[in-house]
Amino acid sequence: MSAGRHRSDEGPKVIKLKIMIDKNRNRVIFAESDHEFIDALFSFLTLPLGTVLRLLEKDMVQLGSISRVYASVYSLEPRFLRTSYCKSMLIMPRNASEVQCEKLKLNVDYSENAGKLFVCNSYSPRCKNIFSISQNTQCFRCNRLTQFDRKINEKEEKRSCRGESVVEVFLKGGAASFMITDDLQVMPASTARLTSLFGKLGVSDKSEIEAKTVEVGTDEVLQLLKFSLLSKTALTNMVLNSQGSWLKDISKYEDNQTAKLDKKTMSQNTNSMSLKLIVSKSKKKVLYAEAGVKLVDFLFSFLVFPLGAVVKHLGGNSRLGCIDNLYKGAVELSSENYIKSEECKNMLLSPKLFPHSGFDSHILEVEEEYPKYRYDDSGCIELARNTNKSEGSSIVNEEEASDLAINILDPKSPTGETIKGEGYLKGPATFMIMDNLLVTPFSPTAIITQLNQMKVSTSDVEERTVTVGKDEALNLLKASLISKTVLNDVFNIREPYPKVMLKV
Ligand SMILES: [Zn+2]
Repeated sequence: MSAGRHRSDEGPKVIKLKIMIDKNRNRVIFAESDHEFIDALFSFLTLPLGTVLRLLEKDMVQLGSISRVYASVYSLEPRFLRTSYCKSMLIMPRNASEVQCEKLKLNVDYSENAGKLFVCNSYSPRCKNIFSISQNTQCFRCNRLTQFDRKINEKEEKRSCRGESVVEVFLKGGAASFMITDDLQVMPASTARLTSLFGKLGVSDKSEIEAKTVEVGTDEVLQLLKFSLLSKTALTNMVLNSQGSWLKDISKYEDNQTAKLDKKTMSQNTNSMSLKLIVSKSKKKVLYAEAGVKLVDFLFSFLVFPLGAVVKHLGGNSRLGCIDNLYKGAVELSSENYIKSEECKNMLLSPKLFPHSGFDSHILEVEEEYPKYRYDDSGCIELARNTNKSEGSSIVNEEEASDLAINILDPKSPTGETIKGEGYLKGPATFMIMDNLLVTPFSPTAIITQLNQMKVSTSDVEERTVTVGKDEALNLLKASLISKTVLNDVFNIREPYPKVMLKV
């Protein structure tokens, strides 16, 4: 396919992929594509987990225990949340790279509100700079609702290739050709890589191989997202539509991939949280846990974490389908200079949270995107380009400090003003967390029912309080993605208390 194609507004958007298939084994050997498809693949790393789960839900697909966290937030009564937007923030999180993702030829995370901020209808100068992330929240200056949307524009340096304008998202829009393996390793195409791949897969008899061109649209990319999380043969699943082998992969994954814990640590941190484990003495098993707002806020915050940030925090070892390979591919393409800019590299490899999605006392300290919006000359909102090379610094340049700057209300806060360290939940409250991370408000009646169901007598029950420091927090994150028995995996109570085990 030719490089430097521009987006056509007619007809469904598709990308053509050349696929090499091993006919004997009915498997994709690799796919060949240009930057447009790789951009769509890499955009998975920018997706918050809540978005991923929302997209998977449509297919009734569950991911580890994190799907239970999602369902818990979904059914939580509003009175437990600080504002009504806190729920939307978690189950329909916004992507800190949404303005970039809107330029993708195939964007799985289409959302009405993406790339928009909202304002009240007052023309008072007091309200001039006040914007909200969500529609119909109260403007705290005039109390009217923020009904009107304003599109965020990105000032783009135009590139062209042989007279045609090129839409670049994360990758440079050249004519480079890339190879994508079945397990989503992405690499620039070369003879050496091709022969090494054939060697690794044991493909030798050329007659076994069939070349095919497939058209990939948004639905196929959505399927690919699903398989990339649950299978090690994502392209085969997508191209050959082989649901069967994918289902086999899931059961294998449940058997083999529970978080194995092998290192002892009890970490201390000012943001440490405590968790009461309710244990059956005879079964040596965690039955459920009791926790306050701080720990549940932490669990819920997994939903706003972009996939790339999860992989980064777990040291490239999330063990989720092919996602670690995809992340590694982005690392390699960036070191080989195929990524458009330092900023794009960070969007993929250390993606930040959407502004106001996190909170200060968060133990994992995932950075929040600094709201880089400001007015442009015509009074529209513009995404200010991060020209400063130093990574991660919240840059407020002189221009932004002037009246071109805009204020974004904190949608978690009833007053719109950020209260340091406050998350999504209204405290004080106590919650019950099951082994599969289903979270419900604490109720003594529910506990009795629960114990009866588990066939545990109240005399067999013991309470153990554990501290959740950074290491335990990472373990909880990791186990939530791949295990259905998270509490028992992370807090191994078989050993003499309080041995808390670790594997990151
Ligand atoms: Zn107002």
